Amino acid sequence: MRKILFAAGLLSLINACDVKKENADLILLNGVVYTVNSDMDIAEAVAVKDGIIVAVGANEEVGNRYTSENIINLKGKSVYPGFIDAHCHFYGYGVDQLIYADLTGTKSFDEVLSVLKEFSEKNKNNKWILGRGWDQNDWPDKIFPDNRNLNELFPDKPVVITRIDGHAVLVNKKALDAAGFNEKTIIPGGKLQKKNGELTGILLDNAADKLKEIVPPLNDAMISEALLGAQEDCFTVGLTSVVDAGLDKNVVEIIDSLNKEGKLKMRIYAMLTPDKETVNTYVKKGIYKTPYLHISSIKLYADGALGSRGACLLQPYYDDPGNFGFLVNTPEYLDSLCAVAFENGYQVNTHAIGDSAVRTVLNIYRKYLKPDNDRRWRIEHSQVVAPEDFALYGKINVIPAVNTTHATSDMYWAEERLGPERIKNAYAYKKLLQQNGWLTNGSDFPVESINPLYGFYAAVARKDLSGYPEGGFQPENALTREQALKAMTIWAAKGSFEEDEKGSIEPGKIADMVVTDRDIMKCEIADVPETNVIYTFSGGKPVFEKNITRK
Ligand SMILES: [Zn+2]
Repeated sequence: MRKILFAAGLLSLINACDVKKENADLILLNGVVYTVNSDMDIAEAVAVKDGIIVAVGANEEVGNRYTSENIINLKGKSVYPGFIDAHCHFYGYGVDQLIYADLTGTKSFDEVLSVLKEFSEKNKNNKWILGRGWDQNDWPDKIFPDNRNLNELFPDKPVVITRIDGHAVLVNKKALDAAGFNEKTIIPGGKLQKKNGELTGILLDNAADKLKEIVPPLNDAMISEALLGAQEDCFTVGLTSVVDAGLDKNVVEIIDSLNKEGKLKMRIYAMLTPDKETVNTYVKKGIYKTPYLHISSIKLYADGALGSRGACLLQPYYDDPGNFGFLVNTPEYLDSLCAVAFENGYQVNTHAIGDSAVRTVLNIYRKYLKPDNDRRWRIEHSQVVAPEDFALYGKINVIPAVNTTHATSDMYWAEERLGPERIKNAYAYKKLLQQNGWLTNGSDFPVESINPLYGFYAAVARKDLSGYPEGGFQPENALTREQALKAMTIWAAKGSFEEDEKGSIEPGKIADMVVTDRDIMKCEIADVPETNVIYTFSGGKPVFEKNITRK
């Protein structure tokens, strides 16, 4: 933070009496406005007209030029550009809320069973019982469960419950039968776990995806309901934009129709799942941009996740010698889609967690990306990077699209997977930031909470919500508050080619803003997660308002 924006003395004198004031739709006064402009200036007041910020400055400066029927006295509360989640599964979260039993935070497999029982009694019409969010690392024995209890409890309904990282599922016998899976089934890029020659019901990566394909799809009305529900929840935590990391054509079309009906108030940057349909409908036709829906990228997957040992590593897992993990797609396949994207001016955003997957992606990208290019191709997560590979990010301008809460969610067991040496180059956000001078931060919700302040806190403190570990997890890779704020505002906007219209509070930009009850740039870092959003403004209109009395 460099300086406070002062009223130009002369300007306020001229304006003081007889100059007629212009009308604004909204004026915020007496705030601590973190503008996140290039000087990181702090202002007091903002005026908005027709959804656009028209003035930012000191109270007198803005107050002398503008008047409004809608003036909010912030009484010293802080204001930030609308928060942007640079990598999440917005639609997936909406669906979860609508049709999945929530298994996050369960402390044992018995607890999972009781949540499922309750959910199935409440939702008797559901033909399949779905759940999501379990993590065996939170249970006493920390091993993958099997489906014996599920088969007993639910002999007649298929059950599919997805692990917290989305890369493993546990299914019952009924679901295995519905998919036609048996002991002899082989699925490339996936695994059907067996014990004493029998399927346990645990399916990894492509095997899990294959099974999920037979779950009956949601109808259009339910998809709309899921999207609008997600939007409401996200406004309560100050999000005004999201980057959805992987959407199919039918969901994109429903988002677009909600957009045209004026129901969509969340700005969505959609990464397309690059199948034939999306490539022909969107990629080959160029960039699609409206105020609420922007399409100019595809999402690729190189590997799986570390927790389920699906991340592809250069050396074997420290706790599973001989297991390197695996790529979920061949380099040739990834390359062929990069070629299509490159030709059509599309951005490529590839999921890569393990150091081998990261290297594979960098090597494919460098065929297309020359130094000083502005394609902004990203590596989503960039979780484990070989020391010699960091520099390549900067050399060919590849953007690390990190998820800082993953560091503090994984820190309890990540070293077991990686060993004491490799862990030093995992979750290395500061080192990644240094390569290009910027990066984006996303939560990856629903894998993590939708609250972007948890990501801010994890980036800066590198601790969990209980303050563990003292001193932070690998604190040498912490970000500063300024960097963490930029990663969820202006840099996040840049990651989707939108930094000219949002990501900071400056005249001419869209009036997406958040007001919080404490100053996250100055309060005790431990208090950040407790911070509440008081207002969320999208295009100058309040889309969330916590009950407070207005002046
Ligand atoms: Zn993701």
